[in-house]
Amino acid sequence: MKNETLYQRALRVWGKEPQMLQVIEEMSELTKEILKNVNRKKDNVAEIIEETADVEIMLSQLKCCYQIADEVENYKIEKLKKIEKRLDEWEETHDK
Ligand SMILES: [Mg+2]
Repeated sequence: MKNETLYQRALRVWGKEPQMLQVIEEMSELTKEILKNVNRKKDNVAEIIEETADVEIMLSQLKCCYQIADEVENYKIEKLKKIEKRLDEWEETHDK
């Protein structure tokens, strides 16, 4: 277990299925805080910070669980290019 990452360790100790359910739980907690902020104008940036960190940690664990970190990174690069292109096109037609 020497070169094991903390994510691999969590998956080994607590199990893949419980940890993947934890991903969902953390995403729902972040969802709840965003809704409070936007719908109810609640001053909850501290909670948003906490839940964002929780989600990022769990997404790292998800990538470790499915061994898809490189594929996700590559997809993100391509997706961000498409978003940039869409933004360029939008600004060309709307910012005049
Ligand atoms: Mg949380």
